[in-house]
Amino acid sequence: MIGREMMAMTEKLVIIGNGMAPGRMLEHLLEAAPGRYDITIFNAEPRVNYDRIMLSPVLSGEKSFEEIVIHGDGWYVANGIVLYKGHKIVAIDREAKTVTSNHGVTESYDKLVIATGSVPFIIPVPGNDLPGVLTYRDLDDVDAMLLAAQSRQKAVVIGGGLLGLEAAAGLKERGMEVTVLHVMPTLMERQLDPAAGYLLQRAVEARGIKVVTRANTKQIVGDGKVEGVELDDGTIIPAALVVMAVGIRPNVTLAKDVGLTVNRGIVTDDRMRTSDPDILALGECAEVGGHVYGLVAPLYQMARVAAAALAETGEDHFAHADTPTKLKVTGIDLYSVGDFADGDDREEIVLRDASAGIYKRVVLKDDRIIGTVLFGETADGAWFADLQKKQTDVSAMRDTLIFGQAFQGVPRRTLWRPLRHSRMMRKSAAATASARVRSFQPLPPRD
Ligand SMILES: Cc1cc2nc3c(=O)[nH]c(=O)nc-3n(C[C@H](O)[C@H](O)[C@H](O)COP(=O)(O)OP(=O)(O)OC[C@H]3O[C@@H](n4cnc5c(N)ncnc54)[C@H](O)[C@@H]3O)c2cc1C
Repeated sequence: MIGREMMAMTEKLVIIGNGMAPGRMLEHLLEAAPGRYDITIFNAEPRVNYDRIMLSPVLSGEKSFEEIVIHGDGWYVANGIVLYKGHKIVAIDREAKTVTSNHGVTESYDKLVIATGSVPFIIPVPGNDLPGVLTYRDLDDVDAMLLAAQSRQKAVVIGGGLLGLEAAAGLKERGMEVTVLHVMPTLMERQLDPAAGYLLQRAVEARGIKVVTRANTKQIVGDGKVEGVELDDGTIIPAALVVMAVGIRPNVTLAKDVGLTVNRGIVTDDRMRTSDPDILALGECAEVGGHVYGLVAPLYQMARVAAAALAETGEDHFAHADTPTKLKVTGIDLYSVGDFADGDDREEIVLRDASAGIYKRVVLKDDRIIGTVLFGETADGAWFADLQKKQTDVSAMRDTLIFGQAFQGVPRRTLWRPLRHSRMMRKSAAATASARVRSFQPLPPRD
């Protein structure tokens, strides 16, 4: 009798996508409301949930795929979850409340979670579909790169952002001769200011990777397979492998097809509910508060919020916060969070130790940190981020702030002796350009 009552109470939860966001959501949900849902997952990728972030260490050979699995097969069995691997959902019927996979499996739901992640952006140039042109998103991409790397030939990575540089480092590690093409004047320009971007370029080049900035791809050339990349100035860079890592787009096709409100991502409220009250969205495919995200920290917050909404154990709300960026390339330490653009209402404190390859920049507005860039020495990243998150008034520690947490309370003049090769400066935005010329050597390339 109790069993029957339980059965009657159990609702059906279907999840589309088995990435990091729904994986984390399920952990919260199973804890908050065990047995509440009968759970079925459809995943287009033919595998269990794994730590996508750690694909770069798999590419470089520092980790195996088994080491980055988050939930192995046994976890699904133990939690009574049905996982359809390699099943892509091709239709949602909101009236009948069913989903159907490309292999013809139809499943009904009471609540549906869409967590379809992102799709890599492919530059619309001739030759972008030649064999040997890859993107960098999942284990299949890594396997294809590893296969290509066996040739020890030349590779071109288009995109000098986080993914592109990690792909380049991994391919170099695997014995390929790698060139990175980046359309902007400095690398990772969305996360780093030009000075740090320039230091990063030097560090990447020191690993034997060529970097070409201001490089506009005209076409990918090859007869039946990729043979090179032609830039718009006519230069051809030979390559047996081309990896495009130029950005991602939220994967919203399904949601759009069934009439959910979609902007850049699937629009949700701050409890991750879409325009259909029985459908939630989370992860990189979701847009909440006007933002879409490409790093896991906010996705894990979405996961917690969505689990609370499904468990109905209390209200939890998503709140936007800046997420720090780090590069997972061994030997290159960089950390960036927040807003570091120049502005009349901002001040910045900069420390540069050229011989040690250290650069630190903290941007202040109204005595609060709004942006931090650290290169070469990043141990204080979390401390700066915490001051920024809490919007701590830092006026009392201005003179020592840039030296980090351990130096708070230390008289400033004693800091100068060990750092006599370093330069530290504080300046207003108006003085930025000339101050940078005096202070930073070597200079980043100018536009
Ligand atoms: C190489 C690499 C390195 C990264 N490094 C970092 C890092 O250092 N720090 C950081 O914070 N973030 C990093 N990221 C980003 C991070 O991995 C993503 O933000 C996160 O994994 C996204 O999770 P998700 O669950 O939203 O989507 P995904 O993990 O993309 O999962 C979506 C899943 O949905 C499936 N799917 C799509 N459509 C369908 C459908 N119709 N039916 C069924 N299944 C479908 C896909 O097959 C996929 O498995 C990195 C990403 C990559 C690729």
